Amino acid sequence: MSDDNANETTELTRRGFLQVAGGSLLAAQVPQLNVPPALGKKLGWALVGLGNLAIFQVLPAFAKSEKSKLVAFVSGRPDKAKQLAARYGVADKNIYNYENFDTIANNPEIDVVYIILPNNMHAEYTIRALKAGKHVLCEKPMANTPEDCEKMIAAAKAANKKLAIGYRCRHEPYNQAMIKMARDQEMGPTRFILADAGFNISLIMGSGKEKQWRLVKKMAGGGSLMDIGVYSLNAARYLTGEEPTEVYAMISTTPNDPRFSEVEENITFQLRFPSGILANCTSSYGGPLSRFRVVGTKGAFEIEPAQGYSGQHMRLLRGNNIEHRDFPTRDHFALEMDSVSESVISNTEPLTPGEEGLKDLRIMMAIYESARTGRPVKLA
Ligand code: NDP
Repeated sequence: MSDDNANETTELTRRGFLQVAGGSLLAAQVPQLNVPPALGKKLGWALVGLGNLAIFQVLPAFAKSEKSKLVAFVSGRPDKAKQLAARYGVADKNIYNYENFDTIANNPEIDVVYIILPNNMHAEYTIRALKAGKHVLCEKPMANTPEDCEKMIAAAKAANKKLAIGYRCRHEPYNQAMIKMARDQEMGPTRFILADAGFNISLIMGSGKEKQWRLVKKMAGGGSLMDIGVYSLNAARYLTGEEPTEVYAMISTTPNDPRFSEVEENITFQLRFPSGILANCTSSYGGPLSRFRVVGTKGAFEIEPAQGYSGQHMRLLRGNNIEHRDFPTRDHFALEMDSVSESVISNTEPLTPGEEGLKDLRIMMAIYESARTGRPVKLA
């Protein structure tokens, strides 16, 4: 008997059983499936900027979203936008460019606009989207200056729309567990936070010939701190639940490395928090770093990788004893987009509102000032 026939026989036998079996027998013999409840309303999302993050992380995440659906693109490259529209079912009429972007105001299918552009474009496109009457999720860092962040927050208030910043780690189970464990003092009161974030950056973007915009100061706003160090800073703030009162920082950049003619490579910074907790943070464009550790009076717990899109793992360290803890793997971007959609649906404050981005920008400016002057900087 071929395998096909064997499968058919098994299937026929099972069907036959189901047809003859009585209701009570059926209930006893057929495993019960946990069927999730019907999905509620999904909000329509427009992506602005179809680059690496949009194509390789955000677009696939819609398949796992429960409250967010893809409806529109805004791109300077109509060829790419059309190709992706065909693949992801976006209607041709919902493809916009940077010039006609404001006409999204006339498209009721779009509820939320996700800004995934180079940092120097965040403020302009966030404000234009808000003026068009749409809610906004803007990628980190919120903007290149605190002044721009303030304008974005004011625009959200004027439009009475939500403004959230793309701090995806806040939405995923491992970082959330760390926050809870720190608040519950699972290892005693926190004494130190160690937060490391970095990667080895390429000079050229993708397979092209253009210099990576992250290395162009007027586009990126700064170097590794703006791009990846912001994760260390944000984590130090959410793991303590406090705002730092003082920062001290040092910068080191490899001499004559063509990547770093405009922006810093490595930066370490220390933060002092009101309760006495100290945070030691790193940020690098020179090598891979991805770990958050909370040190309490009885031990420590850490996740590594801390900011990767997946693969998180937690370790608890008590003396010589190491315990491992794992949580369900979830798509960070699906969780983040759904959280923003839910804040719109229920008219509640987003988990990571514009004010969060502004706080980080103000502290990053103080970090740069400390590195420049060689002195600690007090924060208001
Ligand atoms: P990319 O360079 O890959 O994509 C940016 C896109 O912006 C481009 O593809 C292009 O889209 C559009 N764009 C418009 N004008 C310009 C311009 N002058 N130069 C370059 N691009 C332009 O960047 P990423 O996708 O890596 O990053 C985008 C944003 O997302 C950044 O703010 C970054 O910090 C953030 N980010 C966040 C991550 C996270 O985990 N939360 C991870 C990675 C990035 P088009 O051709 O469609 O017009």
